[in-house]
Amino acid sequence: MSEDRRSQLAAGLSGARERVAAAEAVAGRTAGETTLLVVTKFFPAVDVEHLLDLGVREIGESREPEAGRKLAQVRADRPDVDFAADMIGRVQRKKARSVARWARRVHSVDSIELVDALGGAVERCVADGEREEPLGVLLQMSLDGDPERGGLVEADLAAAADRVDEYAQSLRLDGLMVIAPLGIEPEQAMAQAAAIRERFVAARPEAREFSAGMSGDLEHAIAHGSTCVRVGTAIMGPRPILSP
Ligand SMILES: *Cc1c(COP(=O)(O)O)cnc(C)c1O
Repeated sequence: MSEDRRSQLAAGLSGARERVAAAEAVAGRTAGETTLLVVTKFFPAVDVEHLLDLGVREIGESREPEAGRKLAQVRADRPDVDFAADMIGRVQRKKARSVARWARRVHSVDSIELVDALGGAVERCVADGEREEPLGVLLQMSLDGDPERGGLVEADLAAAADRVDEYAQSLRLDGLMVIAPLGIEPEQAMAQAAAIRERFVAARPEAREFSAGMSGDLEHAIAHGSTCVRVGTAIMGPRPILSP
């Protein structure tokens, strides 16, 4: 059973790696410059451990407190493996402290209030010896202003970036993230996101990370400059349906 799961994950992983490599080649980009973040949300710790055994060192999680508990389990089971976990899902401010305990980076920072919550949370984690490094921040952009999907419209990105700077000891502005809205062609969504990113980076040359692309649209994202694709289903299989 477990061997079956491991070979399933190995196949999913090599398929995703091939897609990323092919998309980089088509886009004329340097091979290997796009990070493949394996999204393990809803899947158990044992799956993360299989992935580590298969060489994965960067994973994405989206739900707290499940993520924190799962990662504690994985770190206990694989004490010698160094890996990074990123928060890619929406963060409630009251969960900022627990996310700050485990996340290398938060991809989904979508308000000034959340910047404040994370900045304060990291300061407290550092004071309590729970982390040493600053937390990487990606500002999530919204292409359609839909509050359901979250994100900041372009006009609000600069103020949020300035707020991140106020936490120079605890936060580091890494770049931008986008989730392509339903109802727009992925190619058009990624082109629009890339244009916003280009204007943003012109003012913020240090914030070059661009987290864009998932199982369904990673080729479009890589064609438009993504530096990190967040891939769940294509590697892990369909997410289990959870009761609410
Ligand atoms: C779940 C999730 C993903 C992965 O989506 P797949 O379609 O399963 O690849 C990527 N980004 C975010 C923000 C997610 O919540």
